[in-house]
Parts: sequence; C-alpha cells; structure tokens
Amino acid sequence: MTTLDNIRFVLVGTTHPGNIGAAARAMKTMGLSNLHLVTPKIYPDAQATARASGADDVLAKATVHDSLESAIAGCHQVYGMSARLRHLPVPVVNPREAVAQIQQAGDDAQIAIVFGREHSGLSNDELDKCQHLINIPANPDYSSLNLAAAVQVCAYELKMTFDPSIEVGRVGENREAVAADDMEHLYSHFEQSLTEIGFLDPENPRNLMRRLRRLFNRADLDRNELQIMHGILRAAETYKGK
Ligand code: SAH
Repeated sequence: MTTLDNIRFVLVGTTHPGNIGAAARAMKTMGLSNLHLVTPKIYPDAQATARASGADDVLAKATVHDSLESAIAGCHQVYGMSARLRHLPVPVVNPREAVAQIQQAGDDAQIAIVFGREHSGLSNDELDKCQHLINIPANPDYSSLNLAAAVQVCAYELKMTFDPSIEVGRVGENREAVAADDMEHLYSHFEQSLTEIGFLDPENPRNLMRRLRRLFNRADLDRNELQIMHGILRAAETYKGK
C-alpha cells in the first residue's frame, strides 16, 4: 500500500512565510514530512520557523524549487488543490475521494498534492500540470480556506487511510473479542439471576431476554466488559441470598 512517505505536499508561490510554517506543523501532526516549496516569496524566515512551532524538522528538510515541474518530477499522480470550481475538463474530487483514488495507485506510486497562493491560488498553467483537482466542499459563500487549514484537511484524510495504526473508535485500546458461545453463557446467566432476584417471571417472561440480546448486540462487549456483567449478576445473587 502507498504510505504517507510516498506523498509530498507542494506549496506554490506562498506569500506569507508564516503559512509555510503553519503548513509544516499541520503536516507533522498527521505524520507527513515531505514538503516542497516552489518559489516562496520569503523563505527561509523567522516567521515560518515560529509558526512551525516544533515542526522545524519538516521545514529543515523542505526542498525549494524554481518551478512546479521540478517539484512534481517523478510523481505518478498530481493533485491540484483548488478553492474555486472552474469549468475545466479535469475531474474534481473531494479530499476523501482523492484518498480513495490514491489507494488504487501502485505501492511505489509517488503522489503530489499541490497548493496555490494565498491570493490567487494556482494559475491555469499550473492547473494544467495536475491530473486531478481536489476541492474541499466548504461554505459556497465563503469557500476559501487558509492555506495551512487546507493542508490540514488533506493531511488528516490521508492519515485516516494510510496510517496503519489507526483503528477507528479503538485508538489506544486493546479490546479482546468475545465469542458467540460466551454471549450465550452470559444470557443464561442473566436469565437465571434475573429469575432469582425476581425481575424475570419465568411464567411470563415477555420479551425481556430478546431485548437484552438486542441491547448487547449493539453494545459489542469485549471480554473485560463481559466479566463485569457476570460479576454484577453474581453480586446481585449474593445480595438476594442474604
Ligand atoms: N483566493 C484563492 C484561494 C487561495 S487559498 C483562490 O480563489 O484560488 C490558498 C490555497 O489553499 C488554494 O490555492 C488551494 O490550494 C487551497 N484551498 C483553500 N481553500 C480550498 C478549498 N475549499 N478546496 C481546495 N483547496 C483549497
């Protein structure tokens, strides 16, 4: 699979050095580090370093080019970021769709994502060098993001797909799966305990057990939580027995 290391961010003609620093920071927070600068107006600059705030390593290894051609040399797929939806014969995708497209590229494919100038974006000549356009669907009445904010949105989408350590909803947690027969055992325990403590009437069980199954199906218990459930039931039985 493509990795974050195969992806470079190219900033073209950036006017404010602070934005270069902020872009470096946005990239580093998402594990990206290949930054290429095409004819930045003022660079290097103390403002870039200040706004990078700890991402100076990304700045330090950034490459400065005198043309877009040089910055995208060797890249197999080139994506242009555009705030304006121009009527150009180029497909426009959102960042999520672009990431899905990048996923289809070969393992060694080098990918460039090109960002334009703060005031004027990318020129038509520059857009011609991009095979695909990416537009971040924003407020139609106010659709232009700050350069570094646009970098952040793209970097986040890339990380969500290409960082193998991301497991949605399970970050930093090691949940041990529970087998179907463990769940059956829990339901029997529930049935027996709830009868014992007088909550379930075996003569008139209604749909109580079925509803509990539905509840636990939604809850997706892990082994630790399963044991807690058994523990609560045992405590209720003991309490009742007193
Ligand atoms: N006024 C410029 C926008 C400049 S913002 C214009 O209309 O083109 C600087 C850069 O951030 C843009 O060139 C683009 O690469 C990126 N960007 C900002 N908002 C974006 C959006 N909604 N979708 C895609 N890229 C965006």
